[in-house]
Amino acid sequence: MSVATQDHVDLSAFIAGVKRRNPGQDEFVQAVQEVAEDIFDFIQDKEQYHEYQILRRIAEPDRVVSFRVCWEDDNGAIRVQRGWRVQNNNSIGPYKGGIRFHPSVTESVLKFLAFEQTFKNSLTGLPMGGGKGGANFNPKGKSDHEVMRFCQSFMTELYRHVGADIDVPAGDIGVGAREIGYMFGQYKRITNQFTGVLTGKGLEFGGSLIRTEATGYGAVYFLQSMLENVGDGVVGKTAVISGSGNVATHAAEKIVQLGGKVLTFSDSDGFIYDPAGIDQAKINWVKAHKTKRRGRIEEYVKEFTGSEYHAGQRPWGVKCDLALPCATQNELDGKDAETLVKNGCIAVSEGANMPTTLAGVHVFKNAKILYAPGKAANAGGVSVSGLEMSQNSARISWKEEQLQALLIDIMHGIHASCVEYGGAAGTKHIDYVRGANIAGFKKVADAMLAYGVV
Ligand code: NDP
Repeated sequence: MSVATQDHVDLSAFIAGVKRRNPGQDEFVQAVQEVAEDIFDFIQDKEQYHEYQILRRIAEPDRVVSFRVCWEDDNGAIRVQRGWRVQNNNSIGPYKGGIRFHPSVTESVLKFLAFEQTFKNSLTGLPMGGGKGGANFNPKGKSDHEVMRFCQSFMTELYRHVGADIDVPAGDIGVGAREIGYMFGQYKRITNQFTGVLTGKGLEFGGSLIRTEATGYGAVYFLQSMLENVGDGVVGKTAVISGSGNVATHAAEKIVQLGGKVLTFSDSDGFIYDPAGIDQAKINWVKAHKTKRRGRIEEYVKEFTGSEYHAGQRPWGVKCDLALPCATQNELDGKDAETLVKNGCIAVSEGANMPTTLAGVHVFKNAKILYAPGKAANAGGVSVSGLEMSQNSARISWKEEQLQALLIDIMHGIHASCVEYGGAAGTKHIDYVRGANIAGFKKVADAMLAYGVV
């Protein structure tokens, strides 16, 4: 068979093709480029991947569903939003990935997230494909009833495209237990089926213990593995964390439990710095303030004396040993990365998805600090979602200790895969980005090869 294929073009020509086919989708192109940089090298001498155009095919979602979401606000005004579900790749299991409600949501953002999710889910070792969905809806400032009506309208279209063996969404930015409850209720109402179609559900209706904590805890378990691999640990280390939502607060909690000191939290308006350290009581206050009261992080300084608020800024200038970006994509650029390295930061573990720009990734890689990309470090959440799917299928609920042990085991497994593919002869340094990209890619690519051209 002819092997003169497009995959034999060089990396820049491949990326130029991705750009051409996805005009204006900068986030998606960025995510593909980050993966392709490592994969090109790995598949160089592996003819089958070229022959079957695996890289070209993996960078094209199976399908993108886009739909109108109409809802009525509390004043009786009709509002119109756009919803999407990106079903990226189901080679190794049903599509799986969160739903994001945020005004910044676009098709490009969801395509990047679904692409990343495919490799992340593969890394967990569980049978889950990659997908992502969402809407450009801003839950901030909306009443509970408005959020409910929006979620119901969103699910009234989405239900056609999802299912326990088809596509199993979960939460993400702006979608927590409340929104999952409303969406699950609407799915159940429309289909008259009680199945595990969503994860992150309430414990009363099929949810799993430790799902809420899993992403943040997992990011710290991964960080701990990286440190232990070089004979170090979290004890006594200072940590700078961005965000103040689900992932950020649980990452902070685990850092504190392991004997580290958390210095910062942020939101989209600015960051707080608490030189005394953010202990469990303060973390509990942040959780209640941000989740239940939906407040701003700025108010932390009124509550805890000695802390500072920096409006409109990100926390990366604060001197630290460890950095955990846990807010959103592209929140840490090349300059921020240089500042962190200059200030002596030794390890970065990404709780968020693609929080570091490509320039920032290159700074961390060149400085050879311990740097865990989101697709490896934040896979704990989807892992416990996968375990929630298993529990739903078997109609049982596992105990917390069992799930904790499984989560730790999965995070250790991901770390080991990254070490296997991210190490190089003659050096002890692990390139975790390369390791995660190759390990995640290989399993999906080999399944695609088994299916032939479909
Ligand atoms: P939440 O909605 O709970 O919290 C998001 C946090 O990020 C908030 O503090 C929010 O501030 C801040 N934020 C959102 N957008 C921006 C922005 N444009 N600039 C600065 N800050 C911003 O979301 P999660 O904690 O669940 O998710 C955080 C990240 O982790 C995302 O990248 C998500 O994709 C990723 N992730 C989440 C998983 C999960 O299980 N929840 C699983 C894997 C990855 P504000 O209050 O001002 O909006």
